Amino acid sequence: MHKQYLLTPGPTPLPPQVQEALGRPIIHHRTAEYRALFKRVQQGLQTVVQTTQPVVVFTSSGTGAMEASVCNLLSPGETAVVILGGKFAERWKDLCAAYEVKVIPISVSYGEAVDPQQVREALKAHPEASAVFSTLCETSTGVVHDMQTIGSIVRETNAVLVVDAISGLLADECRTEAWGIDALVSGSQKGLMLPPGLAFLSLSPKAWKRAEAAKSPRYYFDMRAYKKALVDDDTPYTSSVSLVVALDAALQAILAEGVEAFLKRSALLANATRAGIQAMGLKLFAKRPSNGVTAVRAPEGVDTKKLVKQIQDRYQVTLAGGQGEMAGKVFRIAHMGYIGAFDLLVALASVELSLIELGASVTPGQGLKAFQGLIGAR
Ligand SMILES: *Cc1c(COP(=O)(O)O)cnc(C)c1O
Repeated sequence: MHKQYLLTPGPTPLPPQVQEALGRPIIHHRTAEYRALFKRVQQGLQTVVQTTQPVVVFTSSGTGAMEASVCNLLSPGETAVVILGGKFAERWKDLCAAYEVKVIPISVSYGEAVDPQQVREALKAHPEASAVFSTLCETSTGVVHDMQTIGSIVRETNAVLVVDAISGLLADECRTEAWGIDALVSGSQKGLMLPPGLAFLSLSPKAWKRAEAAKSPRYYFDMRAYKKALVDDDTPYTSSVSLVVALDAALQAILAEGVEAFLKRSALLANATRAGIQAMGLKLFAKRPSNGVTAVRAPEGVDTKKLVKQIQDRYQVTLAGGQGEMAGKVFRIAHMGYIGAFDLLVALASVELSLIELGASVTPGQGLKAFQGLIGAR
């Protein structure tokens, strides 16, 4: 039996207080006890999402909240601008197609961030656009887009800004209300340190107006039902009680540290990971790198599918490979949620050792030294 290390950008490792909460006896969701807990969870989610608006909780993976934002904010035949540049951004395009929304794509090369001026131009050319869809952190490339500037552009128009922050929340700065994000989508299994199974969607007043009027078919994901139930700290359908109890435990841990401090720690770990990778002689894939995940280009002659498998098989360290077109070309190390500095030292060491085993010219210890140089107390 070997100790396992999980460093993927979802699911992420669980802190002990979350694991403990998951093992508690189940309680009934239509009780005063549960409603008090759900109310506290609601306040915690608002702090994390940085909004005064309700944060609706769905029992689904993150994609459920992505789907909810499409079917609640748009009607068939409407137009949306979609910022591309990775596998998750492409999901917005597919969801729009499923709901018969016309897509105006903004193409972005993998590894690059969108130039916010392209969003301004797309909205000028398509004043009929009702929404702009983007990712905050594009987990497949490790890029974080400049949502503050994009928000300042979209808020001057009739369009709503919809942001997939499933991996970005609690890793990259995301001032939902202050930046003018109209729909903030997230999920449980990344920065929030929970198992997969919960999705979150928070709407601005501008977006709620659209949700009242949209004509797309919707039932389980109809935001109006959740808003109505929230008045009594309740949910329209059975809550995923154990996951919400665990969410309460996770939020209490996050709030005890403070959202700012939590983000600062992610930034420090991300920075040190990037330094470690570069000190090994490897190159970062993202031009504007996220603090949630580091995507690394394969060194000459190394297939990252082989590298990730080698690291798993020999060292029981789970990293992520590349997705889609990036398969074999990049590997990814997450530094979000409960992943700490010493987990990352393990990850970097396993990368160094495995690269050497695969014949790459890496001097052992270089990456670790650079990482420690940034992490240690000064
Ligand atoms: C993980 C992730 C998703 C996927 O969500 P599911 O929980 O698998 O439905 C979507 N978008 C981004 C940016 C992600 O990182």
